[in-house]
Amino acid sequence: MDVSEVPRRDLAFLAGGSEMGERMRAHDWAATPLGPLETWPQSLRSMLSVCLNSPMLGTILWGPDLRMLYNDAYIPSMADRHPAALGRPVAEVWGSAWEQVSAPFHRCMHTGEGFSQVCVELPMVRRGRLETTYWDFTAAPIRGEGGTIVGLLNQGTEVTEQVHAERRMAGEAERQRMVFQQMPGFVGILTGPDHVYAYVNDAYVTIAGPRAFVGRGVREVFPELVGQGFYELLDRVYATGEAFSAQSMPIRLAGEDRERFIDLLYRPIRDEDGSVTGIFVGGYDTTERVRAEQALRESEEFNRRVLASSRDCIKVLDLDGNLTFMNEGGYEVMEVSDFNLIRGCPWPSFWEGQGNTEATAAIAAAKLGQSRQFQGPANTMAGRPRWWDVQVSPILDPEGRPDKILSVSRDITTIRQAEDALRGLNETLEQRVEERTRERDQVWRHSRDLQAVVGTDGTFLAANAAWTNILGWAVDEVVGRNHLAFNHPDHHPNSTRALASSSTGELPAYETRCLHKDGTYRWISWVAAPEGGLIYASGRNVTAEKEQALALQAAEEALRQAQKMEAVGQLTGGLAHDFNNLLAGISGSLELMQTRMSQGRFNDVDRYMAAAQGAAKRAASLTHRLLAFSRRQTLDPKPTNVNRLISGMEELIRRTVGPSIHLETVGAAGLWTTLVDPPQLENALLNLCINARDAMPEGGRITIETANRWLDRWAAQKHGIPEGQYLSLCVTDTGTGMPPDVVARVFEPFFTTKPLGEGTGLGLSMIYGFAQQSGGQVRIYSEVGQGTTVCIYLPRHHGDGEAHEEAERTSDLPRSEQGETVLVVDDEPTVRMLVTDILEELGYTAIEAADSVTGLKVLQSDVRIDLLVTDVGLPGGMNGRQMADAARVNRPKLKVLFITGYAENSVLGNGHLNPGMQVLTKPFAVDTMAARIREMIAS
Ligand code: ADP
Ligand code: MG
Repeated sequence: MDVSEVPRRDLAFLAGGSEMGERMRAHDWAATPLGPLETWPQSLRSMLSVCLNSPMLGTILWGPDLRMLYNDAYIPSMADRHPAALGRPVAEVWGSAWEQVSAPFHRCMHTGEGFSQVCVELPMVRRGRLETTYWDFTAAPIRGEGGTIVGLLNQGTEVTEQVHAERRMAGEAERQRMVFQQMPGFVGILTGPDHVYAYVNDAYVTIAGPRAFVGRGVREVFPELVGQGFYELLDRVYATGEAFSAQSMPIRLAGEDRERFIDLLYRPIRDEDGSVTGIFVGGYDTTERVRAEQALRESEEFNRRVLASSRDCIKVLDLDGNLTFMNEGGYEVMEVSDFNLIRGCPWPSFWEGQGNTEATAAIAAAKLGQSRQFQGPANTMAGRPRWWDVQVSPILDPEGRPDKILSVSRDITTIRQAEDALRGLNETLEQRVEERTRERDQVWRHSRDLQAVVGTDGTFLAANAAWTNILGWAVDEVVGRNHLAFNHPDHHPNSTRALASSSTGELPAYETRCLHKDGTYRWISWVAAPEGGLIYASGRNVTAEKEQALALQAAEEALRQAQKMEAVGQLTGGLAHDFNNLLAGISGSLELMQTRMSQGRFNDVDRYMAAAQGAAKRAASLTHRLLAFSRRQTLDPKPTNVNRLISGMEELIRRTVGPSIHLETVGAAGLWTTLVDPPQLENALLNLCINARDAMPEGGRITIETANRWLDRWAAQKHGIPEGQYLSLCVTDTGTGMPPDVVARVFEPFFTTKPLGEGTGLGLSMIYGFAQQSGGQVRIYSEVGQGTTVCIYLPRHHGDGEAHEEAERTSDLPRSEQGETVLVVDDEPTVRMLVTDILEELGYTAIEAADSVTGLKVLQSDVRIDLLVTDVGLPGGMNGRQMADAARVNRPKLKVLFITGYAENSVLGNGHLNPGMQVLTKPFAVDTMAARIREMIAS
């Protein structure tokens, strides 16, 4: 290309005020293989124009030997290679540094592949020393007119400074981390407005517990801190850039039951611009310290309160005796208005000022480790005179050496005064006693009551004139004699006891009959009290009152007796009347039967027979009632289910008490069996229900209840029966109830509150007798206006179950088949005849005997006897039982049926008969007797 063709203005590509533009323009390019500027191809010119004006480091490596054309930005990196490097081959300029990076450049020259490299490390010598430099650069091919590659554009940045800075920073951070890690306090680094953890040290983890920190926001890591103010503080520090610090902030962490305390620092972390990018968190866990301080404060506060509430003046002195402390309680007792006025004052001088040197001595002793105590008068700070008890003792240091001195003063003024008063009293006492004695003598002499001084042995030492007036004895006849000489012999034990106990303390009044000189007696009411080893007795003559009272009592008793007799009269009168009626019914019927039979009119006989039998049955039940009352009834106890017995009675009771009374029965499940005479128990139950009905004229409710009871010793004692297992049958009503004085008497026979002719007063006494005889008890609980409960207790029976119901009555009487023989022993001919007739009717052979001797003779013979039927009460020296026992010597299996009108219980073994022996009560139904005889012979 012709240089002249190139217009000058074409050199505009080198225009611009830059240093390198200037240098290129001035450079003598003609002397180089690049030739004069004017000959540079268009592609080079365009590239240069871009490069020279770029702020980035830029060089163009031009031509086959890659000569350097570079811009201003490159100058600093060239260092002392500039400006000589301009237009020189790159390999020459950079030497071995070039060799390290040249390969991709050469590749780019050949293949046209551009490339870029980051942070390439390049050791190079600059400014006379070897430096390690770092570079980011890119290279792109420059193509000439024909598309051939004529050079390279190399743009880049030297990053050595940055690399060094980064390295420095990284090292710094690492060192920082090491420091943080080993710090005893906790350190954390939060970044961004959400306070995301970038770092926490070990102490942080120790306090907060193992959690995932790094990369998570504080709200996520510590959800439990909501409401504790920490999030808000962090937000504020982040927003304002103001650090925050606080001491002993309470913090409550999840899973901990007590709060912790921390000293806390939040310091903003800023970037170079000064804007906040994170927060540095640091601090200490001061929980232990805070708690210890708190405990200390509390115990100090407690000690202070203890000291304040003491009524003693408690002082601490230094070893020279100067005041360093006084408790608040002491301010009061010592009347100190302001402790500061006396703080530091020498305490012994206070006492010396009062004329007492003991305090001085005590301080000297305390210094040597000894304690002292003294008492003395001293004024309070307000000038009031008081007495003090003072204790001085050393306060020892841990090595046991006196360190301070403790002085405790107690105000003992009141005690002193009391002691003084007592001393004064003692001094005047004798005098007073004398006066009192004189006074008492006056009273004594003129008293209308008996007065006496008695020695502890019972001898009268003094007596007054009243003895003569009341009992006719002169004083000297009394003095010197024993008190028993004047007491009625009946009262000796009482008087002796009274004497014994009056020597230990005052006695309540007691009465004795005392001998008058004329041989009669007077009632005297005594009071006695010991004094000075003697007994002072005073006796009032109460004869008149006493006699009146006794007369009254006798009159009352007589009246009661008379009433009772009247009641008995009523009863027997009524019974006689009833009996007469019944007898009339019986004998009348018999008479009529006889007439009808003699007339051959047999049709009516049955009717009369029935009438006579009915009357006889009623008579029998009447006598039964009487016997029950006399507790002489013959009981025929059988194992009994009381619940079943009650349900059998229910209908009868309901009809008896009437519709205005609601009847309820509550039978205990699993009620034990008892051994009792069932008809008697039925009778008792009916009686209780009738009483209940009578107590509820307006109607009400009767509850019959059974229960099993285990009476322990205490309960049994209360009920007056042996301890053990019982069942109870209780009848409760909602009636009038009874006052206690009635309850006390209801078991008395004939006691009744019912109008004449309505009550017999026998119901409860019968029940009582029956219960006792059955080994049980009756108890009454009654409240006036509320109602009454009467309970019958019966002992549990452990034997077989309930007895089978008595054999059904049959009209076909069992008859003898083998000519069995029965011996009948009874002194009553009619009974004997009746029994014999029954036996013969049944086909048995009967042998009769009228007394025990005859009976035993028969029994001891070898006559066949299948059964002995005998009365219990027999003439002939033996009772029926003894006769039976004697007979059993020869006839050990002899069966015996006792027939008896009333219970000779002891004779019959209280209902516990030997096997093969039975009892039947008179009167008896013929078929019952027959069935029993048959049953016994057959068994
Ligand atoms: P009577 O029923 O013939 O009077 P009892 O011996 O059965 O004789 O009773 C004696 C007295 O006890 C009665 O008169 C009555 O005063 C009192 N009494 C008995 N049971 C009750 C009861 N359930 N409620 C109130 N008082 C009763
Ligand atoms: Mg009654």
